[in-house]
Amino acid sequence: MTKPSMAERLEILADAAKYDASCASSGTTKRNARAGGVGSTEGMGICHSYAPDGRCISLLKILLTNHCVFDCHYCINRKSSNVRRARFTPQEVADLTITFYRRNYIEGLFLSSGIVKSADHTMEQIIETARILREEHDFRGYIHLKMIPEADAELVARAGFFADRVSINVELPTRAGLTRLAPDKSAPQIEGAMGGLRTAILDHQDARSRYRSAPEFAPAGQSTQMIVGADGASDADIVGRASGLYDRFGLRRVYYSAFSPIPDASAVLPLKRPPLIREHRLYQSDWLMRFYGYTPAEVQQATDAQGMLPLDIDPKLAWALAFRDKFPLDVNRASREMLLRVPGLGVRSVDAILASRRHRRIRLADLAKLAVSLAKIRPFIVTADWRPTSLLDRDDLRRIVGPRPSEQLELFAP
Ligand code: SF4
Repeated sequence: MTKPSMAERLEILADAAKYDASCASSGTTKRNARAGGVGSTEGMGICHSYAPDGRCISLLKILLTNHCVFDCHYCINRKSSNVRRARFTPQEVADLTITFYRRNYIEGLFLSSGIVKSADHTMEQIIETARILREEHDFRGYIHLKMIPEADAELVARAGFFADRVSINVELPTRAGLTRLAPDKSAPQIEGAMGGLRTAILDHQDARSRYRSAPEFAPAGQSTQMIVGADGASDADIVGRASGLYDRFGLRRVYYSAFSPIPDASAVLPLKRPPLIREHRLYQSDWLMRFYGYTPAEVQQATDAQGMLPLDIDPKLAWALAFRDKFPLDVNRASREMLLRVPGLGVRSVDAILASRRHRRIRLADLAKLAVSLAKIRPFIVTADWRPTSLLDRDDLRRIVGPRPSEQLELFAP
């Protein structure tokens, strides 16, 4: 069989990488090429592309190879999968990155790989790609490297000297799910590697706070990804797991990837993908914990008897409907912490309210300028000229404050 051309390999390996959701380039240090070198982690003119299912695949998001010696059931690249295989060398990926960067197609590189020969060999190839970019091309753009948790800990740690962000996928929300669907992987090994990265990141942050010459080490931190809907884990399970991962490993982000049925799927997988809105609700719950002060237990209180978040309303509204006794809140007196609980008020709106009420009493018309939907917040607040009477007691409150069927779902509705 003839070796695929460069363009064919690019097509195969970029397509194979689209299942990884963790591609945001936020949170790293600012660098640019004004003082020499190539690339920037900031600035305009950056191209993004999207997979047909709407997932962001910005950056040059690619696998070094889709050959793999593992057989994870949910993965299109597993060794028993009947897909076209391809492989790049580290030099080829580095050259592609530089070429695309100079054409302003991309802002950086997201590099992952199937496991070829061994975990150590694969990890070495990933690191070598980043080394060529940084040391031979003086590339200062964003690099996100996917770690192979089965590789030697020293290799995993070495990657942090070249990458802005490093990530290790926990893959499934539960250990039982991992054992069943990824029989070659081990939860303790994955978590051990994440713990090693956390220690290395903290050590280097400490060194840099004391010595300006200390090298940077994964300045954008580490992240992980969970597949949603491939096993029986409920949203409450997933929220609990994500919260534990943030606490234990100091993660910047937990990404969710709704399981997509793959060609020639294993019989142990569900036939249908979960609704994409489920992934969205989990991201909203993640925001509630990271920016709105909700504890994992409180987010879990917004789930139903099966531990699932409602799909028709956001988790913040679901929580408020379940705990109506906490409302209405007087926007002229309530604490920031409590105002953040009002459905329809986001962080920016709450901060604007706090700034404004130092000078005058807030009226309903003032909120109309700040809130996404006055109809949504009215039952939950008191202003200088408004107090809900029986709204909170109504059986149909959910219908009154929920989105109308025709309304677009807002990403990160407060
Ligand atoms: S190790 Fe990674 S690439 Fe290989 S089968 Fe598992 S998920 Fe797929």
